Amino acid sequence: MEDKNIKIAEQDTDIDNNINIITIDGPAGCGKSTIAKMLAKEFNLIYVDTGAMYRALTLIALENNIDLNDEDSIIQAAEKSNLEFDYSVGDINKYTKVMLNGKDITLDIRSKRVGDAVSIVSKLSKVRKYLVKLQRKIAFKYPCILEGRDTGSVVCPSAICKIYLTANINERVNRREKQLCENNQTLSREQIKYEIEKRDKIDSSREDSPLVIPDGATVIDTSNMTINEVFNSVKKIYNEKLNQSIN
Ligand code: C5P
Repeated sequence: MEDKNIKIAEQDTDIDNNINIITIDGPAGCGKSTIAKMLAKEFNLIYVDTGAMYRALTLIALENNIDLNDEDSIIQAAEKSNLEFDYSVGDINKYTKVMLNGKDITLDIRSKRVGDAVSIVSKLSKVRKYLVKLQRKIAFKYPCILEGRDTGSVVCPSAICKIYLTANINERVNRREKQLCENNQTLSREQIKYEIEKRDKIDSSREDSPLVIPDGATVIDTSNMTINEVFNSVKKIYNEKLNQSIN
């Protein structure tokens, strides 16, 4: 975990490094994180789960009773915290490990409480600016795969390979249900559907960095595809892009 661990306080670099960067964006439950982790393993890339960062700042806000619209206080609290993300990939069905002041908060940031609040916090421009800076710093330092809502449109628009995954709502509910089950969490299908649709709506309509198909991204509708089919399709696209960049 050590050298792939970056503390959130270490952020100061700008990025101009598009080689070996893959971005995967898309709505909740479309299979982004599983595919991103499979690709990270296949190509030995750092896996940057940007959603985990927004979730961690949301947890910090909730635990410190900070108004969810108070961006300055949320950032101040984050700066005072020792927040660490493990970017290595072990079991692809498990979540990114996140530590806050020495405590494992991996599952806390996946709670319903955080899920209900995260889209409110991620609307805040200063919060976005703060996290984008960190994400670019990682992308500058390591060959990586970034996964989220704005990684190809805002964080690394010059990434060599930009993918936008989508799937119909029923399939997305199925996948989220399976993921929760694999991590020993339970939520009814109705609750999962409600939460996904609510977050999609806020994420797609916010002013700063809404969820969009990034310019130049390849769109893949994964509704009727197996995970391996999606993986093979993205792998092929990435290899083609790498070859093009060399020639
Ligand atoms: O990917 P995940 O579902 O964990 O993301 C949680 C939330 O974090 C999203 O619904 C969105 O509000 C926010 N997010 C974002 N930009 C990103 C990644 C996540 O706004 N790049």
